[in-house]
Amino acid sequence: MEVRRRSIAAAKPVHSKTIEEEETHAQLPLPLYIINALFFTLFFTVVYYLLSRWREKIRNSTPLHVVTLSEMVAIVAFVASCIYLLGFFGIDFVQSILRPSADVWASEDLEEEDSHVIIKDDSRNLPCGQALDCSHVMTLPQPQPQPQPLPSLIIDHDPNTLTFTTEEDEEMIKSVVDGTTPSYSLESKLGDCRRAAAIRREALQRSTGKSLHGLPLEGFDYGSILGQCCEMPVGYVQIPVGIAGPLLLDGREYSVPMATTEGCLVASANRGCKAIHLSGGATSVLLKDGMTRAPVVRFGSAKRAAELKLFLENPVNFDPLSMVFNKSSRFARLQTIKCAIAGKNLYLRFTCSTGDAMGMNMVSKGVQNVLDFLQAEFPDMDVIGISGNFCSDKKPAAVNWIEGRGKSVVCEAIIKGDVVRKVLKTNVDALVELNMLKNLTGSAMAGALGGFNAHASNIVTAVYIATGQDPAQNVESSHCITMMEAINDGKDLHVSVTMPSIEVGTVGGGTQLASQSACLNLLGVKGANKESPGANSRLLATIVAGSVLAGELSLMSALAAGQLVKSHMKYNRSSKDVTKASS
Ligand code: ADP
Repeated sequence: MEVRRRSIAAAKPVHSKTIEEEETHAQLPLPLYIINALFFTLFFTVVYYLLSRWREKIRNSTPLHVVTLSEMVAIVAFVASCIYLLGFFGIDFVQSILRPSADVWASEDLEEEDSHVIIKDDSRNLPCGQALDCSHVMTLPQPQPQPQPLPSLIIDHDPNTLTFTTEEDEEMIKSVVDGTTPSYSLESKLGDCRRAAAIRREALQRSTGKSLHGLPLEGFDYGSILGQCCEMPVGYVQIPVGIAGPLLLDGREYSVPMATTEGCLVASANRGCKAIHLSGGATSVLLKDGMTRAPVVRFGSAKRAAELKLFLENPVNFDPLSMVFNKSSRFARLQTIKCAIAGKNLYLRFTCSTGDAMGMNMVSKGVQNVLDFLQAEFPDMDVIGISGNFCSDKKPAAVNWIEGRGKSVVCEAIIKGDVVRKVLKTNVDALVELNMLKNLTGSAMAGALGGFNAHASNIVTAVYIATGQDPAQNVESSHCITMMEAINDGKDLHVSVTMPSIEVGTVGGGTQLASQSACLNLLGVKGANKESPGANSRLLATIVAGSVLAGELSLMSALAAGQLVKSHMKYNRSSKDVTKASS
């Protein structure tokens, strides 16, 4: 144990007194320099003693192999001091003799995983301290009770990743690892986004000692995300895209792309699409289209806050305010300003149409224009934040559920009784009863906020990821109430989904990326609609609602028929050994 600690310390540059060295010293019985001095003294003393004994034996013609007890002790001391001093100078052979087997290491305070990390560092054929921050490896976490399986190699043998051939690249990696070059500045420094990503990735692997093997680097246009979608990229995550459909909606067929890793989901939505199609299709109505932003402003008194509220809600002031707001973009058109007061604080919820953009940037710019304008009329107004959470973005909030945000859509279909039986394998009465007890009563019992549905967020999120929407907005976009009713004397099923806050766009953000734009293209809503700005994003919102309708029908039917567990076992659990697959 002592020896191993000693050899670790010796492997480091003498001048770099690290925390680990401090700890090592603290655990030795004497300070390191005293131990070193003792061994040096011992070494030279026994060498002198043995040489003088040797000379004396030659003079007296005494056989050399006849040794006294003191000579034996001196020989043992000589060997011990040799081993110590050789070990001190880092001679691997000696260290390997001294170092216990890997198993013993595992049982000591440097955990097995760490020891493998060190061994792997060596296999990189890169000088320690350049290839990897060894001091970091030494400070890796505390022992774990269970011996760990071999971690994946630090060396990235993935053919998908770069091999660094140029000196320049190697220098750049080192300077990112040692902190001389900030990782975020690589794109602007190199002027090559892919190379920047590759260098950042390698630097990350070296400084963390963790492999990114499996996270692809190649096959992605890093220039397309610069300044828009993602900073400091090191690769991209692959998510499979499945197709549900055709969804027959408002007389047109759509193949709906869904990016998901949840087994059963696409199959389930696909079955719902089939039931809708066989019943003549679904119909949708877009009720509202307006993105919101609500800054919070503060006054010296509640009276002054109330004055601004009255000013903003006075119809006479709407036109001048909307003129100021609309200057932000040729697509932004102010619709309403709704205010909520809390003492001296006022929340101004602006709603505007945003063309084919989801619209967060657009509405924020318009709001800023109006706030600047209002400052002349209300100089005592203190703008606390451009977003005061009364908007409300990416958080469950009643305001979105009641007032709507983005696109508000209702979508319905009449599913024929025999389709319910043959395709959905259940019956109308069972569906109606389940909907009442689960989606309405059950959600009410749970205190749900906009969650009166079976799994709207499953479909919303999968379509959002496939089409480049902001997946975090699934929070309010998944607000949905699913209604089911027996009609035509109980023979058929009327089903509807009402979704007040579908936040989608077909321009801006992730929609312009190659894969996402291909999915939008499949739906016929790629990019800006030239003839009627906003028509593409509105159509996309209705497709989202139609897909949710299909998803609701299918899952509710599976639940009503008691098939849920069976179908999940079929589609979610392949016969592959999951633990092997993941390793
Ligand atoms: P968001 O407001 O959703 O964050 P961005 O502001 O990033 O969207 O993207 C919208 C941009 O696209 C604006 O610069 C806008 O002028 C431009 N644009 C072009 N055509 C359209 C369109 N039909 N609808 C909305 N924006 C459009």
